[in-house]
Amino acid sequence: MTDTLVVGAGFGGIAVALRCRAMGHKVTLLDRLDQLGGRAQVFEKEGFRHDAGPTVITAPFMFEELFELFGKKLNNYATFVPLDTWYEFYFDDQQHFTYKGDIEHTYREIARFNEADVAGYKALLKLSEKIFKVGFDELSSKPFTRFSSMMSQAPALIRLKSYLTVYGLVSKFIKNEHLRKVFSVHPLLVGGNPFTTTSIYTLIHYLERKWGIHFCMGGTGALVAALKQLMIEEGIAIRLNSDVDQININDGRATGVTLSAGEVISAHNVIFNGDAPHAYRALLPSHLKRQPIRRPDAATQYSMGLYVLYFGTRKTYSDIAHHTIWLGPRHKELLADIFDRHVIPDDFSLYLHRPTATDPSFAPPDCDSFYVLCPVSNLLSGTDWSIEGPALRERIVTALDRTILPGLRDTICADFWMTPQDFKNRYRSEHGAGFSIAPTLTQSAYFRYHNRDPDIPNLYFTGAGTHPGAGLPGVLSSAKVVENLLNGATT
Ligand SMILES: Cc1cc2nc3c(=O)[nH]c(=O)nc-3n(C[C@H](O)[C@H](O)[C@H](O)COP(=O)(O)OP(=O)(O)OC[C@H]3O[C@@H](n4cnc5c(N)ncnc54)[C@H](O)[C@@H]3O)c2cc1C
Repeated sequence: MTDTLVVGAGFGGIAVALRCRAMGHKVTLLDRLDQLGGRAQVFEKEGFRHDAGPTVITAPFMFEELFELFGKKLNNYATFVPLDTWYEFYFDDQQHFTYKGDIEHTYREIARFNEADVAGYKALLKLSEKIFKVGFDELSSKPFTRFSSMMSQAPALIRLKSYLTVYGLVSKFIKNEHLRKVFSVHPLLVGGNPFTTTSIYTLIHYLERKWGIHFCMGGTGALVAALKQLMIEEGIAIRLNSDVDQININDGRATGVTLSAGEVISAHNVIFNGDAPHAYRALLPSHLKRQPIRRPDAATQYSMGLYVLYFGTRKTYSDIAHHTIWLGPRHKELLADIFDRHVIPDDFSLYLHRPTATDPSFAPPDCDSFYVLCPVSNLLSGTDWSIEGPALRERIVTALDRTILPGLRDTICADFWMTPQDFKNRYRSEHGAGFSIAPTLTQSAYFRYHNRDPDIPNLYFTGAGTHPGAGLPGVLSSAKVVENLLNGATT
């Protein structure tokens, strides 16, 4: 019998496994895939390496904490490097905005678009710090398992204007339309539409400014490997290729899981790190399908889907930054197509990852490794991705060839892609959503999936669909919430 069984080896699962181990539990971590990391899988093709998912590290201290639990130092296992240029933004009218860690540079960039917005940006940053102090410092590792805990935070949240959207709040400070897009982009990195995501997420401005944006040398996969080494050293049992078909409940308690191959694994505590809505729909008895607030699936807003094209190039594009955001002609309407109308339009906006800008080991000599991420509707669009996948690849290659990657059509190689259908099949994401449920106000804190089931006291949840939400800082925080609950926190 294992004390604590963690199902799902995404960052939330790995972090909670380590936290439980540090509390003295005997821990088993299992995943249906053949690698650790969840959405942070690593793909290799023809000498090109790709981190499948997360690449931007905004809270390095949260990884350091996991090593410190055991009196160890992260920098003996992995190397984080701060990036000088955080993002390069390209607009449809040929303008571009360079977003750097050097704040004086940011002021100059803002002034190129609109001098008056420099003061607005400074005020936005100040407010972002206040939001961070409440949203991150106070609330992100606090369990929201009772409505009263939500109500006690309501005055602070109202004072900080959490009822506004990220775009709405940014627009109060910034007048230039291009700059509004730049400074409200963050929800898209955690699965939200800036026009509907609660402005609590503007805390990311402060997070970035305080700690910077980092890259783990060797990639996010190297960070997963470092955590794997730590888990092995600390005696956490790891089982891959283990697909959980059922979370077993007996007499109001979780007793373990049944794998698809029929094996039963018993445990005192079960912590689920896969997609929480998937657990309630497919793995648990139907009378428990009541999380988070008895909301029917049809009333739940899922995050967008992701189409990710991984490719190499037989030349280097040395003027392309590590992180690029390429904005198409439409913004608000494009996002409404993706999030609300669930259609796949001909146009798009893109995020381009070029790890070879920082770490040449990702590609053979004189080559580049890339992935391009295109936010699309999740599977609620009804799209047949076996047809749309190759078609969208063509449209994206054409657009990049015409603009920032000239000659791409002739130099692209070793390409392949993931669609929302793959997210559903591989990660068991409900509706193929890239980031579980969307980060709206009515799906946050108490209204998000609770980190402990309301009826089963030893069934816990970490990961993107749970409080506080998606993104690496979010899922690492969800592991802290579970630790707090295991330690007897009651709210
Ligand atoms: C393309 C992409 C880019 C991103 N970029 C960034 C970024 O730059 N920075 C950032 O902070 N965040 C980023 N994110 C978001 C971030 O990666 C995720 O929010 C986070 O990694 C999710 O972690 P998780 O703990 O929820 O687990 P997941 O990564 O979702 O892993 C869950 C695991 O559970 C397993 N599982 C599910 N069901 C079962 C079952 N029944 N049995 C066994 N195993 C099961 C799955 O196989 C999976 O391995 C990105 C996400 C994507 C997809």
